[in-house]
Amino acid sequence: MTALVEARGVTKHFPLRRGKTIHAVDDVSLAIAPREIVGLVGESGSGKSTFGRTLVGLHDKTAGEVFLEGQRLPRRYTTADFRRYARRMQMIFQDPYSSLNPRMTVGEIVGEGLRLGDSRAPSNTRERVGRWLERVGLGRAFASRYPHELSGGQRQRVGIARALILEPTFVVCDEPISALDVSVQAQIVRLLEELKRSLGLTLLFIAHDLSMVRYVSDRMAVMYLGSLVEVGPADDVSFRPLHPYTRMLAASNPEPDPRSERERRTIPIVGEIPSPVNVGAGCRFASRCPEVMDVCRSTTPLLQAVAGEPASRQVACHLYEPEPAAT
Ligand code: SF4
Repeated sequence: MTALVEARGVTKHFPLRRGKTIHAVDDVSLAIAPREIVGLVGESGSGKSTFGRTLVGLHDKTAGEVFLEGQRLPRRYTTADFRRYARRMQMIFQDPYSSLNPRMTVGEIVGEGLRLGDSRAPSNTRERVGRWLERVGLGRAFASRYPHELSGGQRQRVGIARALILEPTFVVCDEPISALDVSVQAQIVRLLEELKRSLGLTLLFIAHDLSMVRYVSDRMAVMYLGSLVEVGPADDVSFRPLHPYTRMLAASNPEPDPRSERERRTIPIVGEIPSPVNVGAGCRFASRCPEVMDVCRSTTPLLQAVAGEPASRQVACHLYEPEPAAT
């Protein structure tokens, strides 16, 4: 199947003074099929938000390409590019409060994108805004309220309506549940799941909580220090993680189901994610990996299919033999 969105070798570096560079994202390739939800997980500082922003053009690419429905997107967006692609690619942000203009009503915020370069909003804006406020579970009466009158969950519903009213083909959800209480997180996940089913949305769902993302994702990609370390079907990655970092993440995340939580074997996350400044050769997880070998410190493992696993499963780790090439 042709990918709806495809990143090929996407790299985003931020130069610092004295010749140093932050390697926020390095050579990441990921294809997302139409109507697929891919969960992108990793700790804070792993580069997942930078990758999501680079996909939708909020960051220039240092290297690599992004394709949307087979069309190559610009390396650096102009204002005209933002207008052209905003209808097709949208972003839902982590902090629903700081991403909403406090001086605008909910109705103005949700309808704002419909202008897209026109000085006047379409004549049916009020009706479309009302329909979307109902669709995200708020109701039309919310149109006259201001962001400070809303709870965190309600603000995130406004952010979702604002992104989806443009009927984009691809949406990056950048930690949309991280700032919310656990019970509200589950409501927002259920809403996104329902919208995905009814609208056929294609989503990249960024989060650090692997257990919550698994419910909404078809596949999961795990990112560590700017690189993907494991990709595969969501249940396989969650319940049978292969990469030592994924195993650590899976074991450290609380399970929403109390019975599973009681039976879970906990492995504490050891150490902190190292600095992304001037990252060298070798496995990036070597300084924290309980199974590190000599080869790990000198040779960078490639993300590839491994022997004995379906091709849909890819891991970047020297513990696994690569799948032999077909003859
Ligand atoms: Fe650990 Fe080596 Fe695998 Fe990296 S490549 S995760 S250091 S075993």
